[in-house]
Amino acid sequence: MELCSGQTNSFLENGLDQYLPSNIDIVHGPACAVCAAPIALIDAAIELANRENVILCASFELLRLKGSVCDLLEIKAQGRDVRVVHTPLDSLAIAREEPGKKVVFLSVGFEMAAQSNALAAWQAKRLGLKNYFLLASQCYFPAVVKHILAVPGSKVQGIFGLSSVCSVTGMVDFEPISKRYQVPIVITGHAPTDLLEGIRLCVNLLENKNASVENLFRGSVSRDGNREGKSLIKEVFQLGDRYWRGIGVVEQGGYHLRPEFQQFDAERAFELQFEAKGDNQACISREILLGFKKPTDCPLFGKGCRPGNAMGSTMVSSEGACASYYNFKNDRQLLA
Ligand code: SF4
Repeated sequence: MELCSGQTNSFLENGLDQYLPSNIDIVHGPACAVCAAPIALIDAAIELANRENVILCASFELLRLKGSVCDLLEIKAQGRDVRVVHTPLDSLAIAREEPGKKVVFLSVGFEMAAQSNALAAWQAKRLGLKNYFLLASQCYFPAVVKHILAVPGSKVQGIFGLSSVCSVTGMVDFEPISKRYQVPIVITGHAPTDLLEGIRLCVNLLENKNASVENLFRGSVSRDGNREGKSLIKEVFQLGDRYWRGIGVVEQGGYHLRPEFQQFDAERAFELQFEAKGDNQACISREILLGFKKPTDCPLFGKGCRPGNAMGSTMVSSEGACASYYNFKNDRQLLA
C-alpha cells in the first residue's frame, strides 16, 4: 500500500501499474489530507464565514472543497470576507492588522500542517492575540497506519511511507507498528525510479521475513525526524481521537490544542457543533482506503461520481485515489 497521493499519481501517470508482475498489487491508502477533511468541518467554516466581523482564511484548495450545500468560494462570491492564504502565519499577520475582527484559519493536513499550525498558535500566544483562531483537522499519520493494519482480514503486506510526513515524524513512530503487525515499511519518494526501488526493497524484506522500517529518502528523512518541529507540536498539541472522512474515527488519530492553547480553538471559542456526515451510501472509499478495493470497483466511478461531482472522499481532490484513476486511467483508455 502506498500512502502518498504523489505516489498514486506517479504510479498511474507513468503506467507502472501495467508493468508489475501479477503477484504484486499496489493499493492506495489515505494519502490525501483534503480527502480526510470532514464535511462538517467545511460546514462549520461556512457558518463562521457568514458571521459578522469574521475573516475566514484558507488555502485555495480548501475554498473549493464542498460542504453539505456549497463551498467557501460561493460564500466569498456572496460578499463575505473569505481570504486565500498560503500559510497560517499569513493569517496571523491579518489578525495583527485587523484587531477589530476575528480571524479564523481553516486548515487540514498531516504532520507538516501540524508543525506550521503549532508555530502560529505559539506565536499568537507570545503576541497576546485575542482575535486569532484555528479551525483545524490535523491528522497523526502513524495512527492511521496502525488502524489500517489492525482491520480484521487486512491484505496489506508492505507499506510505502510518506516522505513529507516522515521528514517530521522520522522513522521512530512507525517502528513499533511495523514490528507489531509484521509489515515492512519503506519510506520512498514519488519518482518512478523511487517507487520501483521501494517495491524491490519491500519484496526483499518480505522474502527475508524482515518487518522493519527502511528509508530510501535520506535527503530529508532521518530516524528521529525533525526534533525541533516535533517538540513544538508536542508543546502546542496533544493526541486524541479524530474523525477521518472515508475511514471513520481513528483512535489517537489527530492533534488537538492543549489546554494552555485552547483560547485559539475555533470550535470552543465559537461553540461550534460538529455532526459527522457520511458520503453517498454506495461509495466504497472506506474499502479503497483500507486496501480491500480499487476505485474501478465502485459502480459510481466515472458515472455518477467524477471530479467536479464527487460523491465520496477519494474523489473530492485531484490528490484522491479515485480522482487519480479518473485522470490517468481514463486518459490511458482513451489513448489505447
Ligand atoms: S468513485 Fe466516488 S463514490 Fe465511488 S468510491 Fe470513489 S469517491 Fe466513492
